Amino acid sequence: MITNVLEFFRNLPKKKCQQCGQEINEQADCYTNFCEECDHPAR
Ligand SMILES: [Zn+2]
Repeated sequence: MITNVLEFFRNLPKKKCQQCGQEINEQADCYTNFCEECDHPAR
């Protein structure tokens, strides 16, 4: 049921960066709570 799958993802809260509040694009390493901008400790 494709519809159920879509609804499942639609109900998921959009991930936002814990630092700047920017929406985070879905990535393989989805354990991060920071966007690409804030996910570089070296900077
Ligand atoms: Zn950020």
